[in-house]
Amino acid sequence: MKLPICAKCGATYRARKNDIRVVTYRKNEEGEQTENEIWCADLLECPICHHEIVWGFGYKAWKNYYEEDFIESLKGVIEREYVVHCFE
Ligand SMILES: [Zn+2]
Repeated sequence: MKLPICAKCGATYRARKNDIRVVTYRKNEEGEQTENEIWCADLLECPICHHEIVWGFGYKAWKNYYEEDFIESLKGVIEREYVVHCFE
């Protein structure tokens, strides 16, 4: 798979950390952000300017809020070294 290129440096991004988790949020009826999905992805870094991007998402979310083990999965995710929170 072709990796993205840094627009500033022209360098190809490199994997910094594989298999990170991304937690997406949605607004509930009260307008509060609540956890919606957990995705697996990779963290890439430009070797020159060290700009980071999240890339290589799976075909579908690893966990959805309506799944029985979502809260338990979320607890495990929070303890990981690399978690990106993506708010609506
Ligand atoms: Zn760069």
